[in-house]
Amino acid sequence: MPKAADDPRALAHRILQAVLHQRRPLDEALAAAGKLDALASRDRAFVRLLCATVLRRRGQIDALIDHCLDRPLKPKLSEVRDILRLGIAQLVFLGTPAHAAVSTAVALAEGPRLAGHKGLINAVLRRLAREGAELTAAQDAARLNTPGWLWRAWAAAYGEATARAIAEAHLSDPPLDLTLKDGPDDWAARLGARVLATGSLRLPPGAGDIAGLPGYGEGAWWVQDAAAVLPARLLGAVAGKRVIDLCAAPGGKTAQLAAAGAEVTAVDLSPPRLDRLSANLARLGLAAETVAADATAWRPPVPAAAVLLDAPCSSTGTIRRHPDIPWLKRAEDLPALTDLQGRLLAAAAGMIAPGGLLVYATCSLLPEEGPERVAALLADGAPFERVPVEPGELGGLSELIGPQGDLRTLPCHLAEAGGLDGFYVARLRRR
Ligand code: SAM
Repeated sequence: MPKAADDPRALAHRILQAVLHQRRPLDEALAAAGKLDALASRDRAFVRLLCATVLRRRGQIDALIDHCLDRPLKPKLSEVRDILRLGIAQLVFLGTPAHAAVSTAVALAEGPRLAGHKGLINAVLRRLAREGAELTAAQDAARLNTPGWLWRAWAAAYGEATARAIAEAHLSDPPLDLTLKDGPDDWAARLGARVLATGSLRLPPGAGDIAGLPGYGEGAWWVQDAAAVLPARLLGAVAGKRVIDLCAAPGGKTAQLAAAGAEVTAVDLSPPRLDRLSANLARLGLAAETVAADATAWRPPVPAAAVLLDAPCSSTGTIRRHPDIPWLKRAEDLPALTDLQGRLLAAAAGMIAPGGLLVYATCSLLPEEGPERVAALLADGAPFERVPVEPGELGGLSELIGPQGDLRTLPCHLAEAGGLDGFYVARLRRR
């Protein structure tokens, strides 16, 4: 009997194949798996958990598979490897009883291509049911689960110890952070959330269905990592000012600026993403002008007092939330991204009135996408000077400020409270 198409493990197997072998982002592959909608919400969450655990622990899991085989699994047997990965994720990392993890994995091997490998799947998983815990305890999880090029880049930028702390932060599910539309009020108590020094509300991982949380329907808050709040805040008091938000969708920062009373023009290349931005603002009872355009070519009718540029990047600061990123991004992707960031930054600089502020942000951990882009703009003679970030603007978190006064958050910052996404932010003023 082939596995039913709506079996959560069979769905997770197909989704993993799309991510690991067709390089589709996990969220996109989950959304495209039509059968997912037919599942109960508990099963949907299980499919995501299975895929996310395989992706978070891929290096460790593959080392366990290789340990159990005399000869490496042939690349053309990727479906078999993915079945093993799902079985091991359950057996070793999710606490599934061994008999269930083994039998459900063996049952996934159906059809002429896979049925002949049932014996191998059974043997590897039964062996790991006995030896997996001990073998795993001896592994260097941080190093194994990080592709070499990322590890080397982080070690060069931040030192070996911090690279390790970053990689360790990626092993756990991140908390859920919310930004309130106006003031703390009593929302923290109503949501059972803690209030971070930066003002964000934080709920523990696995807070459940977001739309079911108190305040969602009223538009009292939106989901936004505590670090992602900081770039817009660095524009200071924006009430009544015209602010251009470049690369704005899906609109977390637009919402912040609009809630602070700015007249926001939100520019993004992607009309579907701008639709999401508009829907998000409508839920929150906020408004902004939206422009679907390439920000490297678009020009405002008059220069603005403030521009926020949240440039597209490798997103390597958000691996906690997107464990597919290490396996989707490649070092070869960087030159095209840094070229686009440089062109967007030059265009943004040309939109600002004298005395106006430019905030440049990326959710990347790589210096090429952060400080190096700002250094290149200034070296080109752009008429800007840095306005260093002050600890008081970050709830006193001075460890987030680098030697030049730029903001640098890392996944291992605020570790005792559940970490932060990695962001780089520079603030410049036009002379
Ligand atoms: N600022 C957003 C927020 O806070 O919700 C997140 C922005 S996301 C990091 C980058 C965005 O840049 C994407 O929505 C993408 O469509 C947009 N983008 C990419 N290239 C662009 C371009 N040349 N012009 C305008 N937008 C662009």
